[in-house]
Amino acid sequence: MNIFIMGAPGSGKGTFSSRIRDTYNLNHISTGDIFRENISKGTPLGQQARQYSEKGLLVPDEITNAMVADYLRNLPDRKNGYLLDGYPRTLAQAKAFEELTAGTADAPDLVLSMDVPFDVLTKRITGRRTCSKCGAIYNIYTKAPAAEGICDACGTELSQRKDDNEESLKVRLNEYAANTEPVIDYYASRDMVERVNADRPIEEIWSDVQEILNSK
Ligand code: AMP
Repeated sequence: MNIFIMGAPGSGKGTFSSRIRDTYNLNHISTGDIFRENISKGTPLGQQARQYSEKGLLVPDEITNAMVADYLRNLPDRKNGYLLDGYPRTLAQAKAFEELTAGTADAPDLVLSMDVPFDVLTKRITGRRTCSKCGAIYNIYTKAPAAEGICDACGTELSQRKDDNEESLKVRLNEYAANTEPVIDYYASRDMVERVNADRPIEEIWSDVQEILNSK
């Protein structure tokens, strides 16, 4: 099964992607994570992406499309399919991916849209802290670690993403409304979208997500 998981920043894509990846044995491909890794390593791709990413702007489509195509081509194990997280984010990306995968085993089957009102997202994002070592995600308002600034799971110092501040968030939410919501509408017109109310307790959302995926 090939899935796109879509949702505004802070909608829980990261949390549910890990669960979906582990439960359904899919390749989790997060374009945001790939960019962040390349930026921190200072690769040529990272140098191209940094100027956009740190301001909350989208990296240009040509760069992003080439990166995803390359990543998909070089997967060492196809597993049960992929979970693409954070892509496609523009109609041009959706069309490019369609050209790349139409009629192949990599064509998408399903779009999961994690829906949360924008005012709820601001608090989630500005309070978010992540562990760069084990990937655990916390929130200083709603899910604080036992010791301030330290990961419960592995003891590493927590960090805040550079783009998790109010200024960048405004840009990212505007990007989402202007560019990504039309992508969801595009797939909805093809009857591929399952919408999940993601403004609820995690276990309720997870139960709905599993019900959807188990029915496919
Ligand atoms: P995310 O972790 O998904 O919020 O992505 C973080 C940042 O990476 C975004 O704000 C963009 O700068 C960049 N990015 C991730 N995915 C894409 C994409 N599909 N198209 C363009 N830029 C992207």
